[in-house]
Amino acid sequence: MKADTIVLGAGIVGVSIAIHLAMRGRSVVLVDRRPPGEETSYGNSGVVGRSGVLPMSFPRSFSQFARVVRQRYPGARYHATALPGLAPWLYAYWRASEPSRMTESARRLAPLLASAVDEHAYLAGLAGAEHFYRDGGWMKVYRSEAAFAAARAQVETAKAHGVVVEVLDAAETLAAEPHLAPIVRGATLWTQLRSVSDPGGVVKTTAALLPRYDARFVSGDARSLRPDGRSWSVDTAEGVVTASSAVVALGPWSLDVLRPLGYRLPLAVKRGYHMHYGAAGNATLGRPVLDEERGYVITPMAKGIRLTTGSEFARRDAPPSPVQLEVAERDAGELFPLAGRREAAPWMGFRPCFPDMRPVVGAAPRHPGLWLAFGHQHSGFTLGPPTGRLLAELMTGGDTFVDPAPFDPARF
Ligand SMILES: Cc1cc2nc3c(=O)[nH]c(=O)nc-3n(C[C@H](O)[C@H](O)[C@H](O)COP(=O)(O)OP(=O)(O)OC[C@H]3O[C@@H](n4cnc5c(N)ncnc54)[C@H](O)[C@@H]3O)c2cc1C
Repeated sequence: MKADTIVLGAGIVGVSIAIHLAMRGRSVVLVDRRPPGEETSYGNSGVVGRSGVLPMSFPRSFSQFARVVRQRYPGARYHATALPGLAPWLYAYWRASEPSRMTESARRLAPLLASAVDEHAYLAGLAGAEHFYRDGGWMKVYRSEAAFAAARAQVETAKAHGVVVEVLDAAETLAAEPHLAPIVRGATLWTQLRSVSDPGGVVKTTAALLPRYDARFVSGDARSLRPDGRSWSVDTAEGVVTASSAVVALGPWSLDVLRPLGYRLPLAVKRGYHMHYGAAGNATLGRPVLDEERGYVITPMAKGIRLTTGSEFARRDAPPSPVQLEVAERDAGELFPLAGRREAAPWMGFRPCFPDMRPVVGAAPRHPGLWLAFGHQHSGFTLGPPTGRLLAELMTGGDTFVDPAPFDPARF
């Protein structure tokens, strides 16, 4: 089988790239070992947009750092055995989280993030996926007066960056989300965001667009990718596919393909868990809600109320250790009337993260025809469609709608 481009990975990033390339006249084969949208792009919180002003950084204040080190902050945990291997990455992350560097990184990421809601709407309109999306933004709730005061201060920074945020007192919070328990001092409501009821469904529905173009999905193992003269080849269930270009969009598995080609990119994963619950009585939730001090999100999904945890620093392939989920389940039960668990075991996924908190989107430095698009950390569902457009524009040689320089893989 011959094509112009092989896209490896059918998460939100790979599917968006495949569609954007196909719309520009490229023949595309999208390869994944699973059907589209069944890994990280399935299990996330479904938030689309700028959910904060600064990216998720390494704690720089001593008290915050000490809470994490003592495993007292449920939003971040670690496996001690993973620390030696993670140390160089953690050090680079700590350096990149220095306030002026982090602000600069956020400034460079902002144009891609700011385009996300529109880029999602564009693909959803083409694919007939609008029904998954809802307005209403997302809400961060605060249990203590001190945390609420700090949040109010952040709002001013957000406004200076052009982000619309409303501050709600306790009564206004309960008016917006009537089934939250009256234990919150207040909330911030980030109104420009959207959210989805089934992130995996969004990816599958978008991938179903492929046959409308010269593009198709094929099952295969991306680790069989190899240079083949001036082309790239990969083994699939339908035979060998050969193309003049290949895109690695394998999210947290991207280095499985790139290491054998000699790339040493500083990608680590922050693991996360989810579980679905019923809602007791007639309780409903209108939007994703972040319990900021306890570090988890509850969000209304097609399968029930999805509780997603914060970050777990561990080896990607270490067995699950869903301690955070157990703590978050207790905390979330105080905030919202959760009924029983709907699954036997928690889902576990991996946020693919570079220390500078930006993805790579661009040409691989040493292999002509090889392109990279991964490492979107906590915002990969949001950034999938704009990444797809940006990479397709780079690969087809047109003007790009945002500056690609901040995402150049050659920066490492
Ligand atoms: C708990 C949690 C909550 C999150 N919440 C949000 C949120 O609310 N909003 C947001 O914007 N982002 C969120 N994220 C981040 C976001 O989900 C990810 O950044 C994003 O889904 C990554 O997409 P991807 O396409 O790069 O990777 P993936 O969706 O993981 O896709 C990679 C694909 O590669 C395939 N693959 C891997 N290895 C091979 C192989 N050898 N051969 C063939 N195929 C292979 C996999 O099967 C998979 O389909 C969250 C993440 C987590 C873990």
